Amino acid sequence: MLRQALLSAAKSTRLKKVVSTVPVSASIVTRFVAGETLDEAVEATRKLVVDGLQVSLDHLGEDTHDREQADKITQSYLTLLERLGRAGLTRGAEVSVKLSAVGQALGAEGEKIATENLQAIALAAHNAGTTVTVDMEDHTTIDSTLGILADVRRDFPQTGAVLQSYLYRTEADCRDLAYEGSRVRLCKGAYDEPASVAYQKDADVDRAYVRCLKILMAGRGYPMVATHDPRLIEIAGALATRHGRSKGSYEYQMLYGVRPDEQRRLAGLGETVRVYVPYGEDWYGYLVRRLAERPANIAFFLRSLVTR
Ligand code: FAD
Repeated sequence: MLRQALLSAAKSTRLKKVVSTVPVSASIVTRFVAGETLDEAVEATRKLVVDGLQVSLDHLGEDTHDREQADKITQSYLTLLERLGRAGLTRGAEVSVKLSAVGQALGAEGEKIATENLQAIALAAHNAGTTVTVDMEDHTTIDSTLGILADVRRDFPQTGAVLQSYLYRTEADCRDLAYEGSRVRLCKGAYDEPASVAYQKDADVDRAYVRCLKILMAGRGYPMVATHDPRLIEIAGALATRHGRSKGSYEYQMLYGVRPDEQRRLAGLGETVRVYVPYGEDWYGYLVRRLAERPANIAFFLRSLVTR
C-alpha cells in the first residue's frame, strides 16, 4: 500500500513542487543523488573509480514533453561523455539513458526522435571508449524500447539492455537477449505495474529473478546483476561458477548510496561492481522510487523536510 502510494507520488507534480524545495544538500538527497551539476557527478565518479568500482551515470530527467528538452538532455549526455573522456574516466564509467528523457513519448515522432538521440549518445560513448545502457521504464514502453535498442545495437552492439524480473514476459526476453556480446542488466523493476503484466508478491518477483539469472548466466551474453538483495547476489555468484564464468564475464550493479559496504566487499573479492550514479536537478521522481523500495528511509526524508 505504502509502496503504491509513494510510486503514485513519484508522478505527482504538486508534491514535486513542495518536495523540490528540499535543498539538494539535504542528506537524504545527497545519499542517493551525486549532485545537481556535471562537476559533482564527475567528482563522485572519480571517487568511486579510485575505490575500484565502475560507474554508470544517469543524467536525471524523465517524461520529456517537447523536442527542445529531449535535445537538451541528449546534449547533456554528449557533454558528460566528453568530460569523462577528458578526465580519463571512461575505462571505468559508462552512461545510463532513459528513452523517455530523450523523446520517446513525443507522440508519433517520439520513437524516431529517441532513436536518433540514443544513436548520437552511443556514438559519443563509442568515441570516448565507453558504452551506454538503456534503462527500462514502465511496461507500456517495453516493446518500443527493445525495438529502438535493436536498431541502435546494429551500429553499436555493446549498447546495454535492462530487463525487469517482475514482468511475466521477461524470461522470454532474457532468452532473446542472451546472445554473444549482448549486455543485459537484470533488475526486479521499480514501477507500479498491474497484475495483468507483473507478479505482485515479492517472493514471486525473486523467484522470477532467479529463473532469469539462470538463462542469462547459461547464455553467451554479459549479465549485469542489478540488485542489493543478499540472497540473489549469492545465487548469481553460484550460477556464474556453475557455468564456468570467470570474474569479469558478468558484473554486479548497485545504486549510489545503497549498500556501499557490500559494493566494496564484492570489488575486494575481484568482482566487477558498477555503481549507478544519478545526478542533475530533476531528482524528485528518482528519489521517491528509492524511498518506495525502503520505507525505513521515509522518516529520514520527513526530517529533512522539517529541519531545513
Ligand atoms: P529489494 O528487495 O528492494 O532490496 C533488497 C535489499 O537491498 C533490502 O532488503 C535492503 O537491504 C537493500 N535496499 C534495497 N533498496 C534500498 C534502498 N533504496 N535504500 C536502502 N537499502 C535498500 N528499475 C527499473 O525499473 N528500470 C531500470 O532501468 C533500473 N535500473 C537499475 C539499475 C541498477 C544498477 C539497480 C541496482 C537497480 C535498477 N532498478 C531499475 C531498480 C530495481 O528495479 C529495484 O527497484 C531496486 O534495485 C530495488 O530492488 P533490489 O533488487 O535491490 O531488491
